[in-house]
Amino acid sequence: MGGGVMGSATAWQLASRGYAVTLLERSSAGHTEGSSHGTSRIFRLAYPDPFYVSLAARALPLWRQAEQESGRAVLTLTGAVDHGPVAAIEALHAQLERAGHVSGVLSPDQAGERWPGLRFDTSVLFHAAAGRVHADHAVLAFQEAAAAKGAVIRHRVRVAKLLRTGADRVEVVTTGDEVLTADAAVVAVGGWAPGLAAATVAGLPPLRVTQEQPLHFPAADATDWPSFIHHGGAGLTARSGRYGLAAEAGVYGLGSVDGVKVGFHGVGPVVDPDHRDRTTDLAAQAQVQEYAEHWLPGADASAPVATTCLYTITPDHDFVVDRDGPVTVLAGFSGHGFKFAPAIGELAADLVAGRAGARRFALGRTFGGAAR
Ligand SMILES: Cc1cc2nc3c(=O)[nH]c(=O)nc-3n(C[C@H](O)[C@H](O)[C@H](O)COP(=O)(O)OP(=O)(O)OC[C@H]3O[C@@H](n4cnc5c(N)ncnc54)[C@H](O)[C@@H]3O)c2cc1C
Repeated sequence: MGGGVMGSATAWQLASRGYAVTLLERSSAGHTEGSSHGTSRIFRLAYPDPFYVSLAARALPLWRQAEQESGRAVLTLTGAVDHGPVAAIEALHAQLERAGHVSGVLSPDQAGERWPGLRFDTSVLFHAAAGRVHADHAVLAFQEAAAAKGAVIRHRVRVAKLLRTGADRVEVVTTGDEVLTADAAVVAVGGWAPGLAAATVAGLPPLRVTQEQPLHFPAADATDWPSFIHHGGAGLTARSGRYGLAAEAGVYGLGSVDGVKVGFHGVGPVVDPDHRDRTTDLAAQAQVQEYAEHWLPGADASAPVATTCLYTITPDHDFVVDRDGPVTVLAGFSGHGFKFAPAIGELAADLVAGRAGARRFALGRTFGGAAR
């Protein structure tokens, strides 16, 4: 259930293992109501946590495999830069080095010479095995590669109910009153998980669904830009009065065929995905423009184009990839899941096959006082 990037990657992985798979997506192909639409998402290996470094490294060959099987170009490596507080940069560098990934730290002047479109803060980490995923093409690639292996991909079919009718039996009831039975179900419904998934499995963490609003700015060489993260603190904090407190959460950006995409991370309002306001928040837009005016001299900050998208955020920003009886749930990708999608599909297929999942992504996990 759910034909965003996670459900589609899972359909591909399951079909590749010989399962009879049906993917049900309530909307049309390429729709813009959820979290997986548009032309770009950051792909990067740099995380301060070795678990995510190795998950991203696992995803890389799987992205290439999906490209090969579908015949679609999906992943473009233009590198990634991180800048901001020295401690954050050093922590990322240490994890990349430990895992044997090529990376280096530059001064702001050195980085400015190499990437004149960006202005840099404090110290700059570069790694090459990073860049962008074409989001729309990725979803299509997974669905096409799954279909080539026998999966049935059905759009405009909305699941109304999921019933557990046995230890290895589920019934899926659509809003058109069709009933499908299966040995196992995978629920990958993004921002709709608090409804459908919460009603079916035990221990789903509290999920906060927000509407985020990245902007695209024109830049002549946009498709050559590295992806970038400007971590909260240092120069960003010093200027944060200009962008609002949102800047504390950090800024992400990347080049794409639509221009240079830029957003503050996870600062949008909580919404109901079925009744959300998709109009442009002009105050939030002005803050990102202020950011671009100062930090992105290579982009035209005067001509932004806004878009909206859903984040589904867990208290610890770790994902939910776990199984309860015949139902596997993929949820809570917390604004950073896309890069891992084929590896998440692989983990989901392992769960369906009866293997244990990652404790990190477990249903029913507890969240001490401090959410990250
Ligand atoms: C602005 C923004 C920027 C991001 N940037 C990055 C980035 O740079 N790098 C990165 O790694 N990640 C990024 N992410 C996160 C990433 O895009 C998401 O983690 C990922 O797309 C989540 O995919 P999903 O399949 O879980 O959800 P979705 O894409 O929302 O898919 C869920 C699907 O389920 C369908 N559905 C819902 N209910 C039903 C039902 N009852 N029956 C049938 N179908 C149903 C929906 O229509 C939808 O298509 C970003 C997210 C946003 C919003």
